[in-house]
Order: sequence, then C-alpha cells, then structure tokens
Amino acid sequence: MMMNYRCNRREFLSHSGAGIAGLVSGQWLGGATTAHAQGADVTPRDPDLVVFNAKIYTVDSRVPKAEAFAVKGGRFVAVGRSDEIKGLVGKKTQTYDARQMMIVPGFIDTHNHGRGEVLLYNVLVGNPFDVEFVTIQSIIDKLRARAATTPPGTWVEGYFFDDTKLKDNRPLNAQDLDKVSTEHPVFVHHRGGHTGFYNSVAFQRAGITKDTPNPFGGTYDKDEKGELNGRVTDRAMATLSKAGTLESFSPAEKEKRVSNGVAFISKKFVQYGLTTVHHNEPGVLAAMQEQRVSAGLLHRVSYEPTGDLLEAMIQNGIESGFGDEWIRLGATYEHTVDGSFSERTMAISRPYIGISPPYQGNLTETQEDLNAWAERVHRAGIRLNCHANGDVAIDRVLTAYERALKLYPRGDVRPKITHCSLINDDLVRRMKALNVVPAEFSTYAYYNSDKFHFYGEEMMSHMTAFRTLIDAGIVPSAGSDFSPGPFSPLMAIQGMVTRTGWNGETWGANQRISLEEALRVNTINGAYNSCEEAIKGSITSGKLADFVVLADDLHTVDKKKIKDVQVVRTVVGGSTVYQA
Ligand SMILES: [Zn+2]
Repeated sequence: MMMNYRCNRREFLSHSGAGIAGLVSGQWLGGATTAHAQGADVTPRDPDLVVFNAKIYTVDSRVPKAEAFAVKGGRFVAVGRSDEIKGLVGKKTQTYDARQMMIVPGFIDTHNHGRGEVLLYNVLVGNPFDVEFVTIQSIIDKLRARAATTPPGTWVEGYFFDDTKLKDNRPLNAQDLDKVSTEHPVFVHHRGGHTGFYNSVAFQRAGITKDTPNPFGGTYDKDEKGELNGRVTDRAMATLSKAGTLESFSPAEKEKRVSNGVAFISKKFVQYGLTTVHHNEPGVLAAMQEQRVSAGLLHRVSYEPTGDLLEAMIQNGIESGFGDEWIRLGATYEHTVDGSFSERTMAISRPYIGISPPYQGNLTETQEDLNAWAERVHRAGIRLNCHANGDVAIDRVLTAYERALKLYPRGDVRPKITHCSLINDDLVRRMKALNVVPAEFSTYAYYNSDKFHFYGEEMMSHMTAFRTLIDAGIVPSAGSDFSPGPFSPLMAIQGMVTRTGWNGETWGANQRISLEEALRVNTINGAYNSCEEAIKGSITSGKLADFVVLADDLHTVDKKKIKDVQVVRTVVGGSTVYQA
C-alpha cells in the first residue's frame, strides 16, 4: 500500500494503527490487543511465530510492557501475556522461548551514508564501528601498499580517518602524505566527510598554492609559517578533484561492487539491531532492488533521493512515500547548508574556541539558492531535508522552509533537518510551528566526546539537544550519519542517557534523556520521521514484525555498558535476519 506524502499527525499521538495503512485494532483475550491489515489474513489463530517468556518493551504507550506476541504474515497479530499468546499456537506455529531476555522494536537510523562499497574495497585508515586509536605511520603504510598497485596519476585514497583518534598527538599533514607517494595524488577522507588531507602532489596537480584564495564555502588550511598544511575543508575539496583520475571500472564491475556493498552493509546493520535505515547515498537504488530479489537486502530502506533521481521525481510526479514496506522513497538527500560538527566547520554564531584567526565555520549555500530549492522540491510533493548543524545554518533552513510551506500549504509534511545540532529557543519555536522532524547525531555523545572542547560546555548544553526537543513536543530521531558516526543503536542509547563519552568526559548533561525516551528516539520516532509510524516503530498488533532480542535488560545493566549488550537476534517481518 502506498503511503501518502501528507502525514496525519493525530494518528501518531494516539498510536493508533487505524488510518493510513488501513489497520483496525481491537481487544482479544482480556487485555491483549489484536489488529489486522486490510486484505491480509491476519486473524491471530495459527500464527507463524509465537514469542513468549520475554521482557517486551513495546514502545506503544497503550500497552508498554508485554511477555509475548504472535506474528503472522510478517506482522504482529497479538501482544500480551505468555499464557494468553501461547494459547494461539497451532500445528504450524514456530515457538521461541525468550528466557526473560529483553525484546524491543527494531531500531531505526534516520541518517546513514552506508553503501558498503567503501568498507569492502577501499583502504580503511580508521575503525568504522568503534573507538580505536591509530598511528600516522599505520596510515602511511596502508596507503603505500595501495599506491604500489595503483597507476601514477590515479588517486590513492584512505577512508575513516578521525583526527582526534591519533596516537601521535599531532595533526596528520601534507608532509606525512608525501611519504606515501611523489607520483600519486593522495587523499585521506575524514570520516566526517567535510574535510580532506592531501599530499603535495595533489595540490601541485590542482594548481593550488599557499597564495590561492579560499573559494566560497571552504578553506585551504595553513601551518604557522603560512604553508599549506594539507587540510582542506568543505567546498574547497571540489577544487582538488582534477588533481587525479579515479580508478575505473567497467559498467558490469561497477554494478557488482555496488551490489556486493549493499549486501555487506545490510548484514552489518542487522547485526547491530537496525531494521530500517534512511539511506543518503546516490546510485544505490537499483542494487538494493537487485539484492532484495536475491534475499540479500535484510533491512528496510527509506531512500533519500538527489541528483537525477530527485529530478526525475519532480519531472514525473513521483512524491515521497512511493514504494512499499521494504524500499520507499523518503525525504530528499540532505541538502547541505553548512559544514561539519565533528570536523568543526559548522556555521555558528560565535567563534570556535582556540582557533585563530577567529573562525565561525562554513556556510555552503546562499539563502536565495536555498529558498529556490526548497520551493521547487516542496511544490513537487517531496519532503524537504537539509543538512544544517550550526544555529546560523538552521536559521537559514527554517527561513526557506517557512517560505516554501507558506507558498504551498500542504498540511503536516514534516520537513526534515539532518543533524540540527546547535539550537536556541527561537529555532525550537520555529521548528515546532512547522513540525520539523530532526535527525540528530546518535552516537556522537559517546564516540566524539574528544571533540566537544572545541565548542565548550555552554554550547554543548544546546547541542544535539534531545531533552530540549522532546520537552518542546518535537519528535527527534537518531541519525548516525555513518560514516561520520558509528551506527550502533546501543552506543547511541548509551550516549543519550549518559551524555558521557568513551573518554569519560560528560558534556551537556542537561540534555540527557531517560532510557524509555532513548528507546523511542531509536524506534517509533524514526518511523515518524518518514511518516511510517502506522506500520512500524513499535510492537503493536497490525505493525510489521520487526524486533530485536537483547541478552540483557537495558534497564538493569550499568548505563555505561549499554553499548556492550549483545544483540542476540534481529527479526524483520517475522524472519530472523541475524542471530548471534
Ligand atoms: Zn550526512
């Protein structure tokens, strides 16, 4: 069934399945709730699966806790006590004794760039999934090995670099990368995606010297002597692309790589308990459909269009919501308005701490261009989504959204802001008025605590502000932004409830939320973000049977060890897609 672009807010607040997806709910066996989807055989008799003896946190406020549920036709058909639900078991029913383990709805990541291809085929100079310190020498060694098999003039690239996870206690620089090669341009990608580190060959071949002025929206950074130090930020990176050629592949090879990447990352997602991911990655849609056919797509996809695809949607009247329960077109790809949180290039209203000359980040889009983009996309029935980290950028985005929604009122369209990191009271008021749905950094509180001193406690008390947003009645969701952040939902939950990072530092403790709230952020709020709360995000009769079995109850483990709790099983549509 196709979802409507215009979301109905009332249904979320009541958690009623009725409406959008045509679900009907009712009572069954004194307290257990049942429901069925229109047209499907989902009477609770003879279910495909019964799970019992579990500590189920449904994230459905009508029935927040349960012991058991039944699944039929890929959906939950009954939720209740073990004795009640076991009574439904028929001849063909599989049963699963959860032995008092915790079960929660499948986790949802509302901002992710994972396509798998980089993980499978490229040089990784950092750890994509967890905190790990590396040496500059290890980076040089890995890239040298790649250079040895790469034709001169072709880029030698490294991925998943994190400037604050270096054992050397000094920045990576151009001289380090000159040791990789004097024949190849070398490019080390910061995992945040907004800065790159280049060798001298790259600058020479691009014709960039210490005297080249910074382009709009980016910088060529210098050392104390005024020489290029190798670091390039935001839109300046594009000016170096002409310095080398890319490794080339035949169309068939290229297709195979992308497809293998999708299957690889899908396995990784479900291993960590993710059952739905909002994909910010152009050129992967065909591979996802191919993997779906060959059973290699294990998670559900909200695909965020850009470029040719977005243009084709606008030209041909395809709105957000087109697709089905596995692959659906979502809001747009993040339209980038400023720089990065982790790489300290986001546009903020006060200068960064300890950086001279005074620097307030990069704005990468003019208000006029942004207004025109938002108007055109919104008018075409496609949900807006902008990348904005700093308060200055969020202000710009809201100005464009307010203008577009006023020109073409369309009801509750939930314009999305990706990251939406640094807020203030005025921005929150304007977000609430438009029912903006933010995708907040999820794992940063834990993973990036070594970078928060660049902002300081005052700013951090308004950063990734789950407490403030929830209290204002806004529905924040969890967006890892992988590769910038690891995508483990349990690492995200730990950071949300503690605001304490891997190094023991706590920043912005006022923004802590409860475990119950963190579970909502990582499940139902993610469903709300893509207007799919009627079919997923909670363990509710009638909804898709996406759930995760955890070895320990998150309520009883040490809050600083939540990220280490084992994902025992991940189930999508009633089928087990991961088992520890
Ligand atoms: Zn992103």
